[in-house]
Amino acid sequence: MARRNILKIGDPLLRKVCKPVESFDEKLAQLLDDMADTLHTVGGLGLAAPQVGILKRVCIVEYDNRLYELVNPVLLKSRGKCIDNEGCLSVPGYRGLVERPQTVDVEYFDRQGVKRVQHAEGYFARVFLHEMDHLDGILFSDRMIKKIIDED
Ligand code: ZN
Repeated sequence: MARRNILKIGDPLLRKVCKPVESFDEKLAQLLDDMADTLHTVGGLGLAAPQVGILKRVCIVEYDNRLYELVNPVLLKSRGKCIDNEGCLSVPGYRGLVERPQTVDVEYFDRQGVKRVQHAEGYFARVFLHEMDHLDGILFSDRMIKKIIDED
């Protein structure tokens, strides 16, 4: 495992639309392992492949002590609306209020290429949506309705 460098806002790679994963191989497993290692080093709820400069539709979410590895995720269904605050490892210095659906159903493949569906609500759903946005070059700051400057 190896920690990878996290790109910051302003880097053009964060604005690209990522390509689907086609082979569920050792390279994908290595990327997922490195992303988890990176997330655990810096802290946070999720990380998307473009944040480490890899333009593939891969992201990870860690919520309630469980790690979700999402390959080629697709939003199947969303319901409701809620506003809460978000931050991003690629957008240092501030957080922001963002409106997102309250509940989602996301279909994705795991690292073995097995199709799965995950239902998520509240902040858990928010983290999925935030990470999936990265795969289309969207940052929370694009969607934020109010900026919250960090105290430190
Ligand atoms: Zn982010």
